[in-house]
Amino acid sequence: MSIDDVILSRRLAVMGGTFDPIHYAHLLIAEDVRRHFKLPQILFMPSGSPPHKKDYEVTSAEDRYIMAVLATSGNPHFAVSRLELDRPGPSYTIETIRQLKAKIGDEAQVSWVTGADAVLEMLTWHQPDAILNEAQILAVPRPGFDLSRLDETLGAERASKVTIIDAPLAEISSTMIRERVRAGESIRYLTPRAVIDYIEKRRLYVDEAHEVMVGETG
Ligand code: ATP
Ligand code: MG
Repeated sequence: MSIDDVILSRRLAVMGGTFDPIHYAHLLIAEDVRRHFKLPQILFMPSGSPPHKKDYEVTSAEDRYIMAVLATSGNPHFAVSRLELDRPGPSYTIETIRQLKAKIGDEAQVSWVTGADAVLEMLTWHQPDAILNEAQILAVPRPGFDLSRLDETLGAERASKVTIIDAPLAEISSTMIRERVRAGESIRYLTPRAVIDYIEKRRLYVDEAHEVMVGETG
């Protein structure tokens, strides 16, 4: 699916994230949302310098981008954007939404897909009200996060602007994958084979000296 198809349909759904690394829950959610709304494309948007994640050292933007490309390459409806990676400074969602609209046309509808954990924290995002006014927020459930608390955390008016999607649940996180790799445990079936191979090749998530073999067992 090319950018021309997206421009024609004027509907674009974006799946934002750190993707450190991308995993099957990200892919499952994206595909479900795409099918649900019959969208021509889901654009994965790895964040450049994530304003929210400072409690651990985030893998280089290039490695996270390459893993996202590897994971999505088999799906003609998935694409990965470099917009936030190539933009200097913190990756603010509102800026990305505005940049995308400028590219596709002002009447474009941008949907932003978020998991329950992310949407429940939306008030900590930069300019949440502008985001809610300029994009459609699609919230998907995530094990351990209660979307019925949206009213309470965002306020009823903001919560009413969020569309909740019923997607399959998968208890996978990038944190879990990083921890397993660090512990030398298998990450098989948590993320596509090509991503596992890349993690091993680049020795991500372990100390330099350590050999990474996380795809063969388990
Ligand atoms: P980390 O553990 O490093 O925070 P993560 O698994 O949460 O990683 P992110 O890159 O932070 O992945 O998330 C990108 C988007 O995908 C967010 O909107 C997040 O809520 C959503 N997401 C990630 N994993 C799941 C999951 N298992 N179920 C539902 N949503 C998810
Ligand atoms: Mg997360």
